[in-house]
Amino acid sequence: MGTPANIIVGSHVWVEDPTLAWIDGEVVSIKNNEVHVQTSNGKKVTTDRSKVFPKDMEAPPGGVDDMTRLSYLHEPGVLQNLATRYELNEIYTYTGSILIAVNPFQRLPHLYDTHMMEQYKGADFGELSPHVFAIADVAYREMINEGKNNSILVSGESGAGKTETTKMLMRYLAHLGGRSGVEGRTVEQQVLESNPVLEAFGNAKTVRNNNSSRFGKFVEIQFDKTGRISGAAIRTYLLERSRVCQINTPERNYHCFYFLCAAPPEDTQRYKLADARSFHYLNQSSCIEVEGINDAEEYLATRRAMDIVGINEEEQEAIFRVVAAVLHIGNINFAKGKEVDSSVIQDDNSRFHLNTASELLECDCNNLEKALITREIVTPEEIITRTLDPESALASRDALAKTIYSRLFDWIVEKINVSIGQDPNSKQLIGVLDIYGFESFKINSFEQLCINYTNEKLQQHFNQHVFKMEQEEYTREEINWSYIEFVDNQDVLDLIEKKGGLIALLDEACMFPRSTHETFAQKLYTTFKNNKRFVKPKLSRTDFTVVHYAGDVTYQADHFLDKNKDYVVAEHQDLLNASSCPFVASLFPSLPEESSKSSKFSSIGSRFKLQLQSLMETLSSTEPHYIRCVKPNNLLKPAIFENTNVIQQLRCGGVLEAIRISCAGYPTRKTFYEFVNRFGVLGPELLEGSNDDKIACQKILEKMKLENYQIGKTKVFLRAGQMADLDARRAEV
Ligand code: ATP
Ligand code: MG
Repeated sequence: MGTPANIIVGSHVWVEDPTLAWIDGEVVSIKNNEVHVQTSNGKKVTTDRSKVFPKDMEAPPGGVDDMTRLSYLHEPGVLQNLATRYELNEIYTYTGSILIAVNPFQRLPHLYDTHMMEQYKGADFGELSPHVFAIADVAYREMINEGKNNSILVSGESGAGKTETTKMLMRYLAHLGGRSGVEGRTVEQQVLESNPVLEAFGNAKTVRNNNSSRFGKFVEIQFDKTGRISGAAIRTYLLERSRVCQINTPERNYHCFYFLCAAPPEDTQRYKLADARSFHYLNQSSCIEVEGINDAEEYLATRRAMDIVGINEEEQEAIFRVVAAVLHIGNINFAKGKEVDSSVIQDDNSRFHLNTASELLECDCNNLEKALITREIVTPEEIITRTLDPESALASRDALAKTIYSRLFDWIVEKINVSIGQDPNSKQLIGVLDIYGFESFKINSFEQLCINYTNEKLQQHFNQHVFKMEQEEYTREEINWSYIEFVDNQDVLDLIEKKGGLIALLDEACMFPRSTHETFAQKLYTTFKNNKRFVKPKLSRTDFTVVHYAGDVTYQADHFLDKNKDYVVAEHQDLLNASSCPFVASLFPSLPEESSKSSKFSSIGSRFKLQLQSLMETLSSTEPHYIRCVKPNNLLKPAIFENTNVIQQLRCGGVLEAIRISCAGYPTRKTFYEFVNRFGVLGPELLEGSNDDKIACQKILEKMKLENYQIGKTKVFLRAGQMADLDARRAEV
C-alpha cells in the first residue's frame, strides 16, 4: 500500500515493529535502499526503503474524522488516527463513506440518546462527527428523496459490535419512521423487540463475546409512501446447531436455556426443571452465570418482548415447553443392552427425563425410547429394525435435540415475520445486515467455510462499490481515472461455488455412500491441483487450505460430509409429527410420501449458496452503506487499543483494500485552498497578484515538475508518494 516515498535524512517516518505493528521515528542515515531510523521508543532500526512510510507531522492532535483527509493514506497513518481518536472516546471514523466503529466496551449513553438522534436528523453527511446515526440518516434520505432501496452492511469479527450497531441503526430508523405519540404495539416497536427475542434463542456466551450471535441476520425494514415504517422481514442464516449439545468452558449454551432455569418457580415446576447445573447440555461447561446477564430478569424480559412481537401466551408456553424438553432429552443416558450392539435406558434418572421429555413434547414415551435406540431400515422386501449401541444412541439423542431446537428457532423467526407483517405496497426499504465476519481458527470446519464464503461474496460486493464510488468522485471532479486497477476475488468464489467447485464436490461426496472425508479430500487435491487459491498442506492427508482475500485458512475435512447433510432421522420425524401438541407437530410437518423413509439428502452447503445468492441479489438492488466494526482488544475491556489486532481486522474487513484501491488512483486529495496553504512556501512568487487558488496550485505543481497528478474542479488529486515528495521539498526551503 502506498509507494516508497521520498525519504531523506531527518524525515519523520513510520517503521514496522514486531509488537506495536508500527513505530514512529526519524531517519538518521540512508545508504542506497537501506534506511536507518531512530525510533521514538529509543531503538535503532535498519530497514528497506520500501518499508518506510512518511509520518504527517501536521496531523491534527485529535486525529481526523475522515481517513481520506489524511495527508498520507497508509497503514500506519490509518492506525495512528484510529488509536488517537479511540483514546478520546471518538469511536467512529469515516474512510470516505465507510464508517469504522471501534468497540468502546463501555456504555456511552449520551452518544445514543434522543437528543443525539434529533441532531443527526436531516444533517448533511460529514457535517457532524461520524456516527451510525449519520449512516442511517443518509440511507433514509436517499430512500425518501430518490426513491431508492438502501442497505447497511455491518461487519466485523465476533465481539466487534455488529449487533449493538445494528440495534442503534434500527432504533434510529424507528425514530425517523415511527409514529410519535402512538401507544401500544406499533410496527416499529415490534421490529425493535424482535431483537431481544432472537438474541434469547440465537445468542450465547462464547470466548469472544458474552452475547455472541450464533446466526446471521438480514432485516428488511419496509416504509410506506410517507416514510413511515410499514412492515419488516427478517431472514436468518445458519444457526450454529452443534452448540445445543456441545459446549466447553468458558462458553454457554443458548441464553434461553439459562433464562428458563431461572424462571419463577411456577414455570420451572411446570417444566420439571431444576438448577441449570443439573442438565448435561449446560453443565459440560463450568460457566453457568455470566457477568452482566441476570437470567431471571431476562426470562421475564424475553416474555415481554415475545408479547410485543405477537407471540401469544399459549405459543410462549409451547416454546418454553420445547426448550425444557431439549434439556430433559440431554439427560437421557444409555447402557449396553443384552444383545450385541444394543442399548437400554441407563437408569431411573434417565427414565425420568425420558418420561418428562415425552410429556412435554406430548408424544408417546415408548415411541420416543424406540426412536432413540433403534433404527428402521427399509429394503424393497421388508422393514428391518436394527438396534443401536449406546454410542449411536447418544448420537441419535443429540441429533434429535439439535433438530428440535433449530426447527424451534426457525419457527420463531417465521412467527415474528408473520406477526410484524409485510407491507405489500411498500416500494421502499432499508435492509440491515448483521452477519459473521471472516473466521480463521486453529481448527476450521464446514461452518468456517460457509462463513468465509459469505465474506468473500460481501467483499466482492464491497470492492465493486468502493471502486464505483472512487470513479464517481473522479467523474464529479472531471478528472481522468484510467489509472485505477481493481483486484477481484472472483477466482476464490469460483473455487467455492462454481460448477465442479468445493460445494459441488462436497455434495457429490455426500451422495456417494462409500465416501469418507479422506476420499473427499483426495478428490479436492486432484481437482484443484493447479488452482492458485487452493493449497494442499504438506503434512496432512485430509486438510486443505483456501487462499482467501483476508488470508489463508486451513480447513479440516473430517466432519464436512456429516455437517453438509441436512436430514432428519425418519423415526424422529414420525414421532414428533404424531405429537398431540399442535405446536410440536407443526415443527415437523408431514413430508411428501416418497421422501419419507428414504434417506434422500439435502445439502446445507447448496442451500446456503442459494440463500446467499438471493441475499446478494437483494443487496445489488440497493444503495449500500458499510459499517466496519473493530474489536480493539480480546480482553473485552475499555481503553485498550492493540495495534496488531486492529490492523488484522482492517485487513479482513477490506478497509485496507478500500484504501489500496484509493492508493491505486489518487490517494491524496486536497482542496485548492488546503494545498496552497501547505505548499505556498514552495513558490511564494507564484501566489502574488492572484487569489485564484486553483491557478496557484497548478503553478506550484508545474514548478515542482510533478507528473500524473490531476486538477479537479475543487481539489488537487495526487498520486501515491507525491505528497511526501512535496513535504520533503518544503522541509528543505
Ligand atoms: P458476534 O459476532 O459474536 O455476534 P458482535 O459483533 O455482534 O459479535 P456485539 O454483541 O454487538 O458484537 O458486541 C459485543 C459487546 O461489545 C456488547 O455486548 C457490548 O458490551 C459491547 N459493545 C459493542 N458495541 C458497543 C457500543 N456501541 N457501545 C457500548 N458497548 C458496545
Ligand atoms: Mg452479534
